[in-house]
Amino acid sequence: MELDAALGLIARVPDFPEPGVLFRDLSPLFAHGDGFRTVADALAATVEPDVDLLAAVEARGFVLAAAVGYARGLGVVLVRKPGKLPSVAGRVDYALEYGTASLELPENVVPRDANVAVVDDVLATGGTVNAACQLLEKAGAVVSGVSVVLELAALSGRTVLDGRRVHSLQVV
Ligand code: IMP
Repeated sequence: MELDAALGLIARVPDFPEPGVLFRDLSPLFAHGDGFRTVADALAATVEPDVDLLAAVEARGFVLAAAVGYARGLGVVLVRKPGKLPSVAGRVDYALEYGTASLELPENVVPRDANVAVVDDVLATGGTVNAACQLLEKAGAVVSGVSVVLELAALSGRTVLDGRRVHSLQVV
């Protein structure tokens, strides 16, 4: 399947999760065997050769990073929402459009100086991926790049991630 056709499987849902927001729903893409493999392979190709480890943001990032990790022979560290991990290396709180959120990194999983690529589905304001990058950097890792399926250009997430390499399969 062509990459454009695979990306065309992503649904556009108006007024979710609130009025005025056009939500990009990757569910039909994840459920399509050819489409999912095409996108996973394309995302895998964006990961630099010197990367030691992938980091995935809960929850859709887990699905993508697992496929990319398998394709590239890389392990995945799961960056989690609070309260899920028995032993936490670090926590970052960050602002959402309404309210705040937090992410946690498991302890004793990321080696110091590891080159890590962060994988997620959508880069919107950049707050989530930036928080994941901060967690990894506080743990002594180096974020070599960020790989996402979709980048929502109007929300300027790339600006928040200044200096870090961002690879998106599609900018909308
Ligand atoms: P950000 O922190 O504003 O960049 O939002 C990114 C996070 O919210 C990612 O983990 C996405 O999974 C999720 N997200 C934001 N907008 C969308 C969307 O339109 N579709 C699916 N997920 C989204």
